[in-house]
Amino acid sequence: MEYRRTAVIKLDTPKGANPILHETVEQFKHCANTASEWCWHGRRQIPVESGCQPETRGVSSDDDGYHVTSKAKAEQALYDQLRNETNLTANLIQKGIRRAVEAVKSGVERLKRGERTSRPYFSADSAVYDKRSATFHRDHVSLSTVDGRIECDYILPDDSEKPPTKYVSDEDFEFRMAHLQYRDGDWYLHASMRKVEESDDPESDSKHRTVLGVDLGVNNLAVASTGRFWSADEFNHWRREYEKRRGSLQQCGSRHAHENIESVGHKETGRFEIYLHSVANELIEEAVEYDCSHIVFEDLTHIRENIPKATWQHVWAFRRLYEYVEYKAEEYGVEAVQVDPRNTSKRCSTCGFTHSDNRSGEAFCCQKCGYENHADYNASKNIGLQYLRRRQNADDGGASVDVRLNRGTLNVNGEYSSTALGS
Ligand SMILES: [Zn+2]
Repeated sequence: MEYRRTAVIKLDTPKGANPILHETVEQFKHCANTASEWCWHGRRQIPVESGCQPETRGVSSDDDGYHVTSKAKAEQALYDQLRNETNLTANLIQKGIRRAVEAVKSGVERLKRGERTSRPYFSADSAVYDKRSATFHRDHVSLSTVDGRIECDYILPDDSEKPPTKYVSDEDFEFRMAHLQYRDGDWYLHASMRKVEESDDPESDSKHRTVLGVDLGVNNLAVASTGRFWSADEFNHWRREYEKRRGSLQQCGSRHAHENIESVGHKETGRFEIYLHSVANELIEEAVEYDCSHIVFEDLTHIRENIPKATWQHVWAFRRLYEYVEYKAEEYGVEAVQVDPRNTSKRCSTCGFTHSDNRSGEAFCCQKCGYENHADYNASKNIGLQYLRRRQNADDGGASVDVRLNRGTLNVNGEYSSTALGS
């Protein structure tokens, strides 16, 4: 039986290491973005017609062989060039190329399903390390950089019962690989750890699993069942600015104005995407921190009916956000799933009573048991519970799964228990 956990470890970097780590990550991104460009635009260089964005062009089934999704092919074509252009070790160059190929693969899958997507672009300050480019110890790590190896101590909380200390100090958990990430002025190691244990109880490895429920909306873009909110204020502000500028350009009506509308659109889209990437990263962080195996969203198929106030930009944002979480979460061993959203906003997450009177704007107050909370937060718990019910019906061996809240969990019957973090 195998346990997989991600330990998020803050690093104590030695003096002078900061610029070297930054340069390493920059060069890693250069490898990934160069590979993404090459793989996405493929071997046949199709001339770009005016007004047609190659990134968002749909691909029909006979376009197989246009995008490159083979790691071996990409490495063969790009390795020497990137070796010349960077000071990275062979292993890091290879990891950069592979990261891009994985992302291009997911992009091609989306195109095949007829969805719009664009060439993967790597903007987050992050690099991928395995056991050849990093040596993982229990209290420090040695990282390969553009300027030799750098050793960083771990900054671990004292509580050995909680992650990340719990896993890092447990010799049974081995380090498999890690993402070096820079966030808010600090460096972190997102380490994937694995514990292999012999046992004659085949069910116990999936016991204690928890899921993170996420509600999407127009006032709060996302609300997690752990009580974390992502406000849509900034997004809504940009959206209104965009509509205003587009409106005034449209009044001019000239060809020139039309081109301006297009350019406003592209600029805003880029801005939204950057914002949505950061929300997606934070949702995954939340899931990793709370040790959740799944991030549960509502099914977006009938999103316009479920959220009548959603504009086309909101719908676009929800779809993008889910897409980002879906492909990013994979690297952390977390899975993004969607469930039927019916009644998730009207249902009481405590007693199950479902009535439209339970909800009034942002306030939820159960007409039966009196449970009161923010309506979006109540919905996020219901979305997690919906997934639990679906699994219960799926009959997968009776493994218990709970919804993760801030200081405890909810079981499939909506019963709360205050439990310690971890497995
Ligand atoms: Zn109730």
